[in-house]
Amino acid sequence: MDFTQVNDLVSQVEKSIHETFPFDRSKELLVGVDLGTAYVVIVVLDQQNNPIACEMEFAQVVRDGLVVDYIGATQIVRKLKEKLEKRLGQSLLKAAIALPPGTGSKDSRTHNYVVEGAGLEVVSVVDEPTAANNVLQVKNGVIVDIGGGTTGLSIIKNDEVIHTVDEATGGTHLSLVLAGNYRVKFEEAEKIKKDPTRKKEVLAIVRPVIQKMASIIQNNIVDYDVETIYLVGGTCCLDGFEDVVEKETGISTQKPHNPFLVTPLGIAMNC
Ligand code: ATP
Repeated sequence: MDFTQVNDLVSQVEKSIHETFPFDRSKELLVGVDLGTAYVVIVVLDQQNNPIACEMEFAQVVRDGLVVDYIGATQIVRKLKEKLEKRLGQSLLKAAIALPPGTGSKDSRTHNYVVEGAGLEVVSVVDEPTAANNVLQVKNGVIVDIGGGTTGLSIIKNDEVIHTVDEATGGTHLSLVLAGNYRVKFEEAEKIKKDPTRKKEVLAIVRPVIQKMASIIQNNIVDYDVETIYLVGGTCCLDGFEDVVEKETGISTQKPHNPFLVTPLGIAMNC
């Protein structure tokens, strides 16, 4: 898939947050549940991977890829599922989920229990970078997924993930820096970070944190022949993020439209 197609598809998911697209009711829908540190997102696709509907909620039920509030997580997934069913006029029965690379089997089971507890049968479990690559279809390069609490790197050579790393840094760190700088609460800092009218001042304040993230990327890819960095994950939504990474690493850096939705979309594709 070229980047124009990727961007069109992600834009369609974005639209499906507010609009429910028509679908063939005789065929089962594909559902992807992304349990993240900052957001729980559910994406619904038709059998041809066309986005139909999407719901999400800010939630702090997962930390560094681990479920820390089982009941809260289950309630949110159930609530989002019910909202979607109401919009679609149809029950959702099955779902795919994703986990950060290297998640142990015990933690993986907890993710399963959350989604099954919410009434969805888990039919597929994929690792997050593989989910992102369902969308990006990178053949050679590194996919860097910067979420709320973690940065996941996956080096891909000849279509195969050959190396993965998960580092405990993400958008939460940017918000903490903003909270300290403006002397506001974390929630207020989150709002400032996402305010499009303040993107220039935000970038100036968080630039050193992004530079640090870029050095983490650099250190982890130094032994591999990486020509392109592909950015996904909500934190990369920040305007100018890709420019800082490209400048620091000296490696061509690409970011799709709304990188926040790439992994949830790719999870649904695995259903
Ligand atoms: P993790 O992958 O660490 O478990 P997650 O799956 O919740 O977390 P994402 O949903 O990819 O991660 O991204 C969430 C992060 O992205 C949060 O820190 C959030 O503040 C940040 N974020 C979302 N939208 C924007 C935006 N427009 N600008 C800047 N940051 C954003």
